[in-house]
Amino acid sequence: MRLLIVGNGGRASALATKLSEDSRITKMFFAPGNATTEKLGENINETDIILLRDFAIKNKVDLTIVGPEAPLVEGIVDEFKKVDLKVFGPAKKAASLEGSKAFSKKFMKTYGIKTAESVTFDSYADAKEYLQNQKFPVVIKASGLAGGKGVVIAEDLEEAEGTIHDFMIKRIFGDAGIQVIIEEFLQGFEASIIAVSNGDKIFPFIPAKDYKKVGNGDKGLNTGGMGSAAPSPEFKDEHFQDFVNNIMNPTVQGLKTEGLSFKGFIFFGLMVTEKGAYLLEYNMRLGDPETQVLLPLLENNLVDVIEDCLHGKELELRFKNKKAVCLVVCSGGYPQNHETGYEITGAEKVKNSTLLYAGADYRGGRVISTGGRVLNLVALGDTFEEARKKVYEDANIVDFDYGFFRDDIAKF
Ligand code: AMP
Repeated sequence: MRLLIVGNGGRASALATKLSEDSRITKMFFAPGNATTEKLGENINETDIILLRDFAIKNKVDLTIVGPEAPLVEGIVDEFKKVDLKVFGPAKKAASLEGSKAFSKKFMKTYGIKTAESVTFDSYADAKEYLQNQKFPVVIKASGLAGGKGVVIAEDLEEAEGTIHDFMIKRIFGDAGIQVIIEEFLQGFEASIIAVSNGDKIFPFIPAKDYKKVGNGDKGLNTGGMGSAAPSPEFKDEHFQDFVNNIMNPTVQGLKTEGLSFKGFIFFGLMVTEKGAYLLEYNMRLGDPETQVLLPLLENNLVDVIEDCLHGKELELRFKNKKAVCLVVCSGGYPQNHETGYEITGAEKVKNSTLLYAGADYRGGRVISTGGRVLNLVALGDTFEEARKKVYEDANIVDFDYGFFRDDIAKF
């Protein structure tokens, strides 16, 4: 079996690591991949979806898995399906549940999915007028894809007005800011539920916790994720039932009614308040860095899970009775302008955890940092403390100039 995995972050490395256990797989291509995937398969320097489709035909790829949102929203699944290539992921229309927050909020409201109150605006003047009577903080979101940076929690009117000006007039995120959503601020803790859909039903994984802020104690700017832990100890059975009844089941119903049902991963970003679980957003793909803790806990063979979904079969997902921790090591300056181009040393001394490269590539036999989130350390343990100890010991061994990480990942 020959696979193509689209993506290059730590998530692609986690997929590569899980899939490399499957002896039926004879070849894995990664587009564009990173230093970990290069060891486990072949990296191809291609991101154009039509050229990827042609590559898959030419290289007799049996199954394609798409990691990041951009190619899904661009319609990679539609293009692959047109030529009968097997691909796991939503078509362009369903991917809009992630690509357009205006569309997804409308979908949530239509199908009674529990979410924060919000209003969508196309007009800057209307948005500005609406802000005059709001209680603060309010949450302001650019509707389109903004690389995880298009959400601002505005503490007062001045910040809120500045944000809609940046999004709608200055267009700091280009067309992604043509529409904005102004949303009620929810106070609580966040949880991530990744699931797979077989086109008829959704099968959830165990809940994970993602650490979004750059600093210890959840301080500072939002990032793509500084670490993760699973199963989330905060997300109790009662929250899970609430999620199933008020978010997951109505989502399945909505997808069917709208003709959006798909076979692929779906991610529910949740905020749990005193009033239970609220849906903040859908991602129509695996989350990063949640994937890095969920795949090592998943007992099922991943290709079997995907094949069963593609055939519309029922699934029984099983997870190890362990705790998993992922620590993300970043480049100095991240998530703003950051340093790259430094050699990563000490990888061969990492013994307690699995080192997954994210923004790092081989250059002349050395591994060099190329991105903001450079590498992940992942470990399992009987307790979070045990898993934490392993990743933090290794984080002090693997080294590159200006690298940094949070000290409090999975400290419960
Ligand atoms: P989103 O892309 O919609 O998930 O938003 C990104 C992040 O912004 C979330 O993970 C939360 O940390 C925060 N956020 C989004 N919506 C809200 C809300 N209504 N109340 C509080 N925080 C929010």
